[in-house]
Amino acid sequence: KVTIRLDKMLGNLGYGTRSQIKILIKQGAVAVNGKLAKDHGMQINPKEDEVVLDGETIKYRDTVYVLLHKPAGVISATEDSRDQTVIDLLDEDLAVLSPFPVGRLDKDTEGLLIITNDGKLSHELLSPRKHVPKTYRALVAGDVGTDDAEAFLKGVALDDGYETMPAQLLVRAKTRNDGAPEVEDELYATEMIDAIKLAPKQEEEISMDVLSWIELTIHEGKFHQVKRMFEAVGKKVLYLRRISMGPLQLDASLAPGEWRELTEEEVESLR
Ligand code: URA
Repeated sequence: KVTIRLDKMLGNLGYGTRSQIKILIKQGAVAVNGKLAKDHGMQINPKEDEVVLDGETIKYRDTVYVLLHKPAGVISATEDSRDQTVIDLLDEDLAVLSPFPVGRLDKDTEGLLIITNDGKLSHELLSPRKHVPKTYRALVAGDVGTDDAEAFLKGVALDDGYETMPAQLLVRAKTRNDGAPEVEDELYATEMIDAIKLAPKQEEEISMDVLSWIELTIHEGKFHQVKRMFEAVGKKVLYLRRISMGPLQLDASLAPGEWRELTEEEVESLR
Protein backbone atom coordinates (compact mmCIF):
# COMPACT_ATOMS: atom_id res chain seq x y z
CA LYS A 1 0.00 0.00 0.00
CA VAL A 2 1.53 3.30 -1.01
CA THR A 3 -1.52 5.53 -1.02
CA ILE A 4 -4.00 6.92 1.47
CA ARG A 5 -7.35 8.66 0.96
CA LEU A 6 -7.08 12.44 0.93
CA ASP A 7 -9.77 12.85 3.61
CA LYS A 8 -8.13 10.21 5.79
CA MET A 9 -4.74 11.85 5.46
CA LEU A 10 -6.09 15.26 6.48
CA GLY A 11 -8.19 13.68 9.22
CA ASN A 12 -5.17 11.88 10.70
CA LEU A 13 -3.32 15.17 10.78
CA GLY A 14 -6.10 16.76 12.80
CA TYR A 15 -7.66 19.06 10.17
CA GLY A 16 -11.17 18.00 11.14
CA THR A 17 -13.66 15.17 10.99
CA ARG A 18 -14.23 13.39 7.70
CA SER A 19 -17.36 15.46 7.05
CA GLN A 20 -15.62 18.75 7.88
CA ILE A 21 -12.82 17.82 5.52
CA LYS A 22 -15.33 16.89 2.84
CA ILE A 23 -16.76 20.41 3.12
CA LEU A 24 -13.28 22.00 2.94
CA ILE A 25 -12.59 20.09 -0.25
CA LYS A 26 -16.01 21.04 -1.71
CA GLN A 27 -15.23 24.68 -0.96
CA GLY A 28 -12.05 24.39 -3.02
CA ALA A 29 -9.62 24.76 -0.12
CA VAL A 30 -7.45 21.80 -1.10
CA ALA A 31 -5.14 21.40 -4.10
CA VAL A 32 -3.21 18.28 -5.08
CA ASN A 33 -0.20 18.71 -7.34
CA GLY A 34 -1.36 22.20 -8.27
CA LYS A 35 -4.91 21.17 -9.19
CA LEU A 36 -8.04 21.80 -7.16
CA ALA A 37 -9.07 18.58 -5.41
CA LYS A 38 -12.68 17.61 -6.15
CA ASP A 39 -12.86 14.08 -4.78
CA HIS A 40 -12.35 13.78 -1.02
CA GLY A 41 -11.72 10.06 -1.47
CA MET A 42 -8.91 10.49 -4.00
CA GLN A 43 -5.79 8.44 -3.34
CA ILE A 44 -2.68 10.32 -2.29
CA ASN A 45 0.90 9.08 -2.27
CA PRO A 46 2.28 11.18 0.60
CA LYS A 47 5.84 10.74 -0.64
CA GLU A 48 5.13 12.06 -4.14
CA ASP A 49 1.96 14.12 -4.15
CA GLU A 50 1.92 17.72 -2.96
CA VAL A 51 -1.17 18.54 -0.91
CA VAL A 52 -1.92 22.23 -0.24
CA LEU A 53 -4.66 23.39 2.14
CA ASP A 54 -5.54 27.09 2.10
CA GLY A 55 -2.20 27.85 0.50
CA GLU A 56 -0.20 25.87 3.05
CA THR A 57 1.70 22.74 1.99
CA ILE A 58 0.65 19.80 4.15
CA LYS A 59 3.27 17.35 5.27
CA TYR A 60 2.12 13.86 6.18
CA ARG A 61 3.99 12.30 9.08
CA ASP A 62 7.44 10.88 8.36
CA THR A 63 8.04 8.17 10.88
CA VAL A 64 6.25 5.16 12.24
CA TYR A 65 7.15 2.99 15.25
CA VAL A 66 4.88 0.08 16.02
CA LEU A 67 4.96 -2.69 18.61
CA LEU A 68 3.19 -5.73 17.17
CA HIS A 69 2.23 -8.92 18.95
CA LYS A 70 3.04 -11.10 15.98
CA PRO A 71 0.69 -14.05 15.64
CA ALA A 72 1.79 -17.43 14.27
CA GLY A 73 1.26 -17.98 10.53
CA VAL A 74 2.32 -14.50 9.47
CA ILE A 75 5.62 -13.70 7.72
CA SER A 76 8.11 -11.10 9.06
CA ALA A 77 8.53 -9.38 5.70
CA THR A 78 7.02 -6.48 3.82
CA GLU A 79 5.76 -8.60 0.90
CA ASP A 80 5.02 -12.23 0.27
CA SER A 81 3.34 -13.84 -2.70
CA ARG A 82 1.55 -16.50 -0.64
CA ASP A 83 1.30 -15.59 3.01
CA GLN A 84 0.02 -12.66 5.00
CA THR A 85 2.84 -10.37 6.19
CA VAL A 86 3.19 -8.39 9.40
CA ILE A 87 2.67 -5.19 7.35
CA ASP A 88 -0.73 -6.48 6.21
CA LEU A 89 -1.80 -6.34 9.87
CA LEU A 90 -1.28 -2.55 10.11
CA ASP A 91 -3.66 0.25 9.08
CA GLU A 92 -3.15 1.80 5.66
CA ASP A 93 -2.27 5.16 7.29
CA LEU A 94 0.86 3.52 8.69
CA ALA A 95 1.54 1.06 5.87
CA VAL A 96 1.73 4.05 3.52
CA LEU A 97 4.97 5.09 5.30
CA SER A 98 6.78 1.94 4.07
CA PRO A 99 7.57 0.38 7.45
CA PHE A 100 9.46 -2.90 7.78
CA PRO A 101 10.05 -5.35 10.63
CA VAL A 102 13.18 -4.91 12.77
CA GLY A 103 14.68 -8.36 12.31
CA ARG A 104 12.62 -11.46 11.87
CA LEU A 105 10.55 -13.90 13.82
CA ASP A 106 9.90 -17.29 12.23
CA LYS A 107 6.48 -17.87 10.68
CA ASP A 108 5.46 -20.04 13.64
CA THR A 109 6.96 -17.72 16.30
CA GLU A 110 4.73 -15.27 18.15
CA GLY A 111 5.49 -12.20 20.19
CA LEU A 112 7.10 -8.80 20.23
CA LEU A 113 8.11 -7.37 16.88
CA ILE A 114 9.04 -3.75 16.26
CA ILE A 115 7.96 -2.34 12.92
CA THR A 116 9.35 0.99 11.76
CA ASN A 117 10.56 2.94 8.75
CA ASP A 118 13.53 4.26 10.76
CA GLY A 119 16.44 2.49 9.09
CA LYS A 120 19.02 3.92 11.46
CA LEU A 121 17.22 2.73 14.59
CA SER A 122 16.59 -0.67 13.05
CA HIS A 123 20.25 -1.01 12.16
CA GLU A 124 21.31 -0.08 15.68
CA LEU A 125 18.90 -2.53 17.30
CA LEU A 126 20.16 -5.35 15.10
CA SER A 127 23.84 -4.45 15.17
CA PRO A 128 25.87 -7.36 16.57
CA ARG A 129 28.06 -4.79 18.36
CA LYS A 130 25.14 -3.47 20.42
CA HIS A 131 24.17 -6.85 21.94
CA VAL A 132 20.56 -5.71 22.48
CA PRO A 133 19.01 -8.43 24.69
CA LYS A 134 16.03 -10.37 23.36
CA THR A 135 14.06 -12.57 25.72
CA TYR A 136 11.97 -15.52 24.61
CA ARG A 137 9.66 -17.94 26.37
CA ALA A 138 9.53 -21.38 24.86
CA LEU A 139 7.87 -24.73 25.32
CA VAL A 140 10.61 -27.34 25.01
CA ALA A 141 10.22 -31.11 24.73
CA GLY A 142 12.44 -32.63 27.41
CA ASP A 143 13.71 -31.91 30.88
CA VAL A 144 15.56 -28.60 30.65
CA GLY A 145 17.89 -28.15 33.60
CA THR A 146 21.04 -26.64 35.05
CA ASP A 147 23.27 -28.47 32.52
CA ASP A 148 21.50 -26.61 29.72
CA ALA A 149 21.71 -23.30 31.59
CA GLU A 150 25.46 -23.78 32.05
CA ALA A 151 25.95 -24.76 28.42
CA PHE A 152 24.06 -21.69 27.19
CA LEU A 153 26.01 -19.43 29.55
CA LYS A 154 29.28 -20.75 28.11
CA GLY A 155 28.04 -20.86 24.52
CA VAL A 156 27.02 -23.80 22.37
CA ALA A 157 28.01 -24.76 18.83
CA LEU A 158 25.12 -24.48 16.36
CA ASP A 159 24.75 -26.92 13.45
CA ASP A 160 26.93 -24.68 11.25
CA GLY A 161 29.70 -24.54 13.86
CA TYR A 162 28.88 -21.01 15.08
CA GLU A 163 29.59 -20.57 18.83
CA THR A 164 26.82 -18.62 20.51
CA MET A 165 27.46 -15.73 22.88
CA PRO A 166 26.58 -16.17 26.58
CA ALA A 167 22.81 -16.51 27.02
CA GLN A 168 20.74 -16.68 30.20
CA LEU A 169 18.31 -19.57 30.68
CA LEU A 170 15.61 -19.84 33.36
CA VAL A 171 13.24 -22.77 33.75
CA ARG A 172 9.82 -21.40 34.63
CA ALA A 173 7.66 -24.54 34.75
CA LYS A 174 7.64 -28.25 33.96
CA THR A 175 5.07 -30.94 33.37
CA ARG A 176 5.73 -34.66 33.75
CA ASN A 177 3.58 -37.23 31.97
CA ASP A 178 0.77 -34.75 31.29
CA GLY A 179 0.55 -33.81 34.96
CA ALA A 180 -0.22 -30.32 36.16
CA PRO A 181 2.74 -27.94 35.74
CA GLU A 182 5.20 -27.80 38.65
CA VAL A 183 5.73 -24.11 39.24
CA GLU A 184 6.47 -21.40 41.74
CA ASP A 185 4.29 -18.84 40.00
CA GLU A 186 0.81 -19.61 38.67
CA LEU A 187 1.31 -17.19 35.77
CA TYR A 188 3.84 -19.56 34.25
CA ALA A 189 1.53 -22.54 34.64
CA THR A 190 -1.24 -20.74 32.76
CA GLU A 191 1.16 -19.63 30.05
CA MET A 192 2.57 -23.12 29.72
CA ILE A 193 -0.84 -24.76 29.41
CA ASP A 194 -1.78 -22.25 26.69
CA ALA A 195 1.50 -22.92 24.86
CA ILE A 196 0.88 -26.68 24.99
CA LYS A 197 -2.45 -26.09 23.23
CA LEU A 198 -0.75 -23.95 20.57
CA ALA A 199 2.16 -26.31 19.89
CA PRO A 200 1.68 -28.43 16.79
CA LYS A 201 1.25 -32.16 17.37
CA GLN A 202 4.65 -33.88 17.21
CA GLU A 203 5.83 -36.94 15.35
CA GLU A 204 6.45 -40.04 17.46
CA GLU A 205 10.23 -39.73 17.80
CA ILE A 206 9.91 -36.68 20.10
CA SER A 207 9.28 -37.73 23.68
CA MET A 208 6.61 -35.55 25.25
CA ASP A 209 6.94 -37.18 28.69
CA VAL A 210 8.53 -34.08 30.15
CA LEU A 211 7.86 -30.58 28.87
CA SER A 212 9.68 -27.45 30.05
CA TRP A 213 8.49 -23.84 29.92
CA ILE A 214 11.63 -21.76 29.78
CA GLU A 215 12.86 -18.20 29.40
CA LEU A 216 15.99 -17.53 27.35
CA THR A 217 17.76 -14.19 26.86
CA ILE A 218 20.11 -13.89 23.90
CA HIS A 219 22.21 -10.92 22.82
CA GLU A 220 22.51 -11.63 19.11
CA GLY A 221 20.16 -12.86 16.42
CA LYS A 222 21.31 -15.74 14.28
CA PHE A 223 18.79 -17.45 12.00
CA HIS A 224 16.46 -19.71 14.07
CA GLN A 225 18.81 -19.10 16.98
CA VAL A 226 16.66 -20.25 19.91
CA LYS A 227 15.50 -23.40 18.13
CA ARG A 228 19.05 -24.22 17.06
CA MET A 229 20.46 -23.63 20.55
CA PHE A 230 18.06 -26.21 21.95
CA GLU A 231 18.90 -28.58 19.08
CA ALA A 232 22.54 -28.18 20.13
CA VAL A 233 21.65 -29.64 23.55
CA GLY A 234 19.43 -32.36 22.05
CA LYS A 235 16.03 -30.79 22.69
CA LYS A 236 13.22 -29.47 20.54
CA VAL A 237 11.37 -26.15 20.77
CA LEU A 238 7.64 -26.80 20.32
CA TYR A 239 6.39 -23.24 20.72
CA LEU A 240 8.25 -19.92 20.81
CA ARG A 241 7.26 -16.39 21.82
CA ARG A 242 9.44 -13.29 22.14
CA ILE A 243 8.57 -11.27 25.23
CA SER A 244 11.09 -8.45 25.10
CA MET A 245 13.62 -6.61 22.98
CA GLY A 246 15.91 -4.16 24.75
CA PRO A 247 13.75 -2.09 27.12
CA LEU A 248 10.46 -3.00 25.39
CA GLN A 249 8.17 -5.67 26.82
CA LEU A 250 5.29 -7.40 25.12
CA ASP A 251 2.17 -5.70 26.48
CA ALA A 252 -0.22 -8.06 28.22
CA SER A 253 -2.95 -5.90 26.66
CA LEU A 254 -1.96 -6.86 23.10
CA ALA A 255 -3.44 -10.15 21.89
CA PRO A 256 -1.67 -11.92 19.01
CA GLY A 257 -2.30 -9.86 15.86
CA GLU A 258 -2.80 -6.62 17.80
CA TRP A 259 -0.40 -3.68 17.73
CA ARG A 260 0.03 -0.15 18.99
CA GLU A 261 2.31 2.76 18.17
CA LEU A 262 5.26 3.30 20.50
CA THR A 263 5.23 6.40 22.68
CA GLU A 264 7.96 9.01 22.18
CA GLU A 265 9.55 7.88 25.46
CA GLU A 266 9.64 4.28 24.25
CA VAL A 267 11.25 5.31 20.95
CA GLU A 268 13.85 7.33 22.87
CA SER A 269 14.52 4.37 25.18
CA LEU A 270 15.53 2.32 22.13
CA ARG A 271 18.19 4.78 20.94
N1 URA B 1 14.89 -17.89 17.45
C1 URA B 1 14.22 -18.77 16.66
O1 URA B 1 14.57 -19.93 16.56
N2 URA B 1 13.16 -18.31 16.00
C2 URA B 1 12.71 -17.04 16.08
O2 URA B 1 11.71 -16.69 15.46
C3 URA B 1 13.42 -16.14 16.91
C4 URA B 1 14.51 -16.60 17.58
